[in-house]
Amino acid sequence: MAKDFDRIVDVAIVGAGIVGLGHALAAVDRGLSVHVVDRTSRPNGSTIRNFGHACISVQSGAAQVYADRSRQLWLRLRDEAGLWMRDGGGYVAARADDELRALSEFAARRPTSVEMIGADDTARLTGAASAVGGAHLLDDLQLNPREAAGQIVAYLESRGVTFAFATAVRTIRSGRLHTTRGRIGADQIVVAVNYDVDQLFPDLSAAYGVRRCGLDMMRVRIPGLTAPLAGPVLTGWSMLRYSGFATAPSLEAVRERLWAGDPEFRALDINQMYTQLPDGTVIVGDTHYRDDAIAPFQSEGSFDALLRGTADFFGQPASTLEVVERWQGVYAVAPEEFLVEEPLDGVHVVSVTTGIGMTTGLGLADRVLSEIYEPVGV
Ligand SMILES: Cc1cc2nc3c(=O)[nH]c(=O)nc-3n(C[C@H](O)[C@H](O)[C@H](O)COP(=O)(O)OP(=O)(O)OC[C@H]3O[C@@H](n4cnc5c(N)ncnc54)[C@H](O)[C@@H]3O)c2cc1C
Repeated sequence: MAKDFDRIVDVAIVGAGIVGLGHALAAVDRGLSVHVVDRTSRPNGSTIRNFGHACISVQSGAAQVYADRSRQLWLRLRDEAGLWMRDGGGYVAARADDELRALSEFAARRPTSVEMIGADDTARLTGAASAVGGAHLLDDLQLNPREAAGQIVAYLESRGVTFAFATAVRTIRSGRLHTTRGRIGADQIVVAVNYDVDQLFPDLSAAYGVRRCGLDMMRVRIPGLTAPLAGPVLTGWSMLRYSGFATAPSLEAVRERLWAGDPEFRALDINQMYTQLPDGTVIVGDTHYRDDAIAPFQSEGSFDALLRGTADFFGQPASTLEVVERWQGVYAVAPEEFLVEEPLDGVHVVSVTTGIGMTTGLGLADRVLSEIYEPVGV
């Protein structure tokens, strides 16, 4: 070993969230030696705080390409790393005629990945108290975000990837990393630190307009739910967010009606959606607030609004909902959906700068490694 370094590898990765782990998978698949450094003692960032919804069927453009590739890789990880997964697709519940029209327009352009379903089936599969119809998003997957990253770490270790947790990266130069536990030499370095790109590469972060988005989340037991949710459930509010819906001509009518009808949801920028964990509890979210630093003080009003929406959606009295947990998530946001740059030779900065990293991160990582090395199959 060269005396200047404590460790030398082909690829060093900063960040053990889904984006960093995706790069580790892509690198080890190419027969490379890989070392991952993360400053926390286990994955603890956005990757464990989300819904676990790989919303493959509602993307567009580059995000769609990365999502489709991610889907293949998630399925492989299910089999090889033993991940829990629901692979029967996701659902959108339309609760007004304009939502159903916009959904039909969306589905008409995606005949292989979206199927319209009737009102009764929508209510049965999503738990919605009332629905005028819905869509089945055939390619969507659901992971358990609390377990998946840890299981992927264990799987990658079994394939020879080494990890240094509780180790912060302080400076990065071409071919070397300085960490709080020594120096690492690497041919290629991937920096997958989500919003903390502004700490390690402040000029690049500023050029991309990267900021932080804070989100309020809860986990709720809903005793009145008589059947499990068949998959992740999106609502009309979700249709306003995901790029795949953007060109539906009726979407504007949906937006105007929802914004006028619920100014509180609009002000909190809520994406009303639900995923059910294996223990039956339901992840409920989420609000959105953007800033350079996210205040840790979560407003009780946000949680009241989320519970009000949940009671209304499932037709349950709010007093029967049992809140199990509340938490705050944070992810990077910027005008572009992805930040992929090589600011120094062999140093690749990769961040998903909107809330779709579970959907796209694995595929994006595979693309980055394919451009440095060779593409590989699934
Ligand atoms: C509440 C919420 C709900 C979401 N829902 C969904 C969803 O349903 N579907 C979906 O597709 N996406 C969703 N997302 C987005 C998704 O979770 C993120 O896009 C994704 O997890 C980002 O992964 P990452 O690896 O970039 O970040 P992270 O998981 O945050 O990992 C970054 C890692 O970098 C480490 N790090 C930072 N700086 C340093 C340093 N200097 N040295 C060493 N380590 C460092 C951190 O410790 C951290 O572990 C949601 C996000 C949130 C917060």
